[in-house]
Amino acid sequence: MAPESGNPFKNAQYQFDIAAEMLGLDPGLRRILRLPQRELTVNFPVKMDNGDIEVFTGFRVQHNITRGPAKGGIRYHPGVTLDEVRALAMWMTWKCNTVNIPYGGAKGAVICNPKKLSQNELERLTRRYTSEISLLIGPDRDIPAPDVGTTDQEMAWIMDTYSMQVGHTVPAVVTGKPINVGGSQGRIEAPSLGLVYALREASHYLSMDITNAKVVIQGFGHVGSICARVLDEFGAQVVAVSDTSGGIYNPHGLPIADLLAYKARTGAVTGFPETDAISNADLLELECDFLIPAALETQITAKNAGNIKARAICEAANGPVTPAADEILYDNGVFVIPDILAGAGGVIVSYFEWVQGLQEFFWTEREVNAQLERVMVNAFQQALRKAQEKRVQLRTAAYLLAVDRVARSTLTRGIYP
Ligand code: NAD
Repeated sequence: MAPESGNPFKNAQYQFDIAAEMLGLDPGLRRILRLPQRELTVNFPVKMDNGDIEVFTGFRVQHNITRGPAKGGIRYHPGVTLDEVRALAMWMTWKCNTVNIPYGGAKGAVICNPKKLSQNELERLTRRYTSEISLLIGPDRDIPAPDVGTTDQEMAWIMDTYSMQVGHTVPAVVTGKPINVGGSQGRIEAPSLGLVYALREASHYLSMDITNAKVVIQGFGHVGSICARVLDEFGAQVVAVSDTSGGIYNPHGLPIADLLAYKARTGAVTGFPETDAISNADLLELECDFLIPAALETQITAKNAGNIKARAICEAANGPVTPAADEILYDNGVFVIPDILAGAGGVIVSYFEWVQGLQEFFWTEREVNAQLERVMVNAFQQALRKAQEKRVQLRTAAYLLAVDRVARSTLTRGIYP
């Protein structure tokens, strides 16, 4: 039985260990890949609107850069920890290498509550944080992107700050930028569209149909809300959603366009007409075809995994299911499409954005989505074949693909000096 831990980094290492063991990885290689290569902690001042000076703590962690520049988002959250960032950086390495794009993994964060900062304070915080981590980032070294609590606006400020420091415009230093400063068509929808492609492939395998499938989504931010919209367009019935204010449920389905407008107006999903209130905990245990965790880590644990009634879980969030919960779900026949596969749409289109920025040659939305679909479908089918061949769950299969790619590249490059 896997140990239950609320520490995402321990969970990430445990998931890695399973694959390393199955691959018979050399102990030295295991020691390399179990730990982040570089970790930077920065404490930096920001002038607040009232004239006070506050000091904020931020991180940038690079887990691995064997197969290309480090890639990963930046999180603004009051509860974020260094271990969480380490886990997220490690998951980025495996995510990029599950879908076989030439990146390593990184993640950054600032301990702050962005909802309590003014736009001017957010801009000063973002610019100073960028300056502090410019020791590490760069278009051929480490390329940030949005994550929880950050948007395309923060990415524009990061791009501008870095460009001011080097004296020329460098669009490829960051992805998830607004289109008018070098962003890619389709980037905003990419995490959700990629997830729905994975869900569609899983549905075929499970002899299910997305059309009319009942879907429950935890988290109604950037990823969760667009998942709801895309699934609605695919004909699925989204019956429950939630955010930090709580959840709402209507077994006959939610009118997603109206709900998006309501959330934009009120800032929360709760109180939406003709729905029952439901707690975030109860929402996870609703009867449904697909459950999509799209909020934070460690939501499905040994405590509630046995109560999950969904036929399949599609992880939009990083690390929502603990290793102990994974085993319970597997035993109960719940099909889990893991974060490092299901959640890869964002980084795939970030890669396209980076390529477009370097070449200064931009694609149409149709071209972006077609390439995204190609990469997602290939990765899903490869992972599924691996799962069937090795008789393991899809998460372990994805890890086997990703860890093997990184391990082989490490061996080919050799250990310096
Ligand atoms: P976001 O800040 O836009 O939204 C997060 C949402 O989760 C909000 O609606 C918030 O209210 C809700 N939330 C937070 N804690 C919750 C809880 N305990 N219960 C219910 N809801 C809760 O962030 P996002 O960009 O949508 O990211 C969501 C997840 O997807 C994260 O795990 C992130 O790492 C992952 N992800 C994001 C991207 C991207 O490109 N933005 C790409 C891949 C994966």
